[in-house]
Amino acid sequence: MKDVPIRCECGKVRGVVRGMAPANTNRAICYCDDCQAFAHYLGQADEVLDQHGGTEVLQVAPGSVEFTDGAGHLACLQLTENGPYRWYADCCGTPIGNTPANWRISFVGLLRRCLDAGGGPSLESAAGPVKMRIFTEFATGDTATMTKGPGFTPGGMFRFGLSILGGMLTGRYRNTPFFEGNGQPVAAPYCVAGEERAKLAPYAQADG
Ligand SMILES: [Zn+2]
Ligand SMILES: [Zn+2]
Repeated sequence: MKDVPIRCECGKVRGVVRGMAPANTNRAICYCDDCQAFAHYLGQADEVLDQHGGTEVLQVAPGSVEFTDGAGHLACLQLTENGPYRWYADCCGTPIGNTPANWRISFVGLLRRCLDAGGGPSLESAAGPVKMRIFTEFATGDTATMTKGPGFTPGGMFRFGLSILGGMLTGRYRNTPFFEGNGQPVAAPYCVAGEERAKLAPYAQADG
């Protein structure tokens, strides 16, 4: 188990993921169009997306995340109504993570970007290898030779589901830096919609 620092690029937002281990972390790469749009919206496509438009996320229990500095800089947006909250540092646009809009479904997919910036232990040693590559149908560039699997694996999803269910049954979902005690997000979500969203969409269709 390792404590992994969280840091935005400019250093105003700092925090830590406590006790990260391969057994409690789902390390995945998501190629979906919304994850790509999020990086582009923040002007962080070069920093966040791999050569196929993938975003590396580390899904952990929100209770293991603590912000020690600059929590007031946390901002969030949504790319679809009822879609996940996508958290970032409004000081410099560093993406932080994604949470379901319903806090009872308690997990956060932290973007690798804010963990790399912290200069902590290697993610390989803290979280183990990438376990899933999902929504590869949205992958960009020459996808013929890219690694496309495994996708949602039954074992991984089962363990992940158990962790979320456990959070619901025990009330542990209330232990989160992303929501107030009444289940409202700590920052009002901004919905990127209409033309603003449409401008981000073509990035997802750049293949072909
Ligand atoms: Zn910052
Ligand atoms: Zn995604």
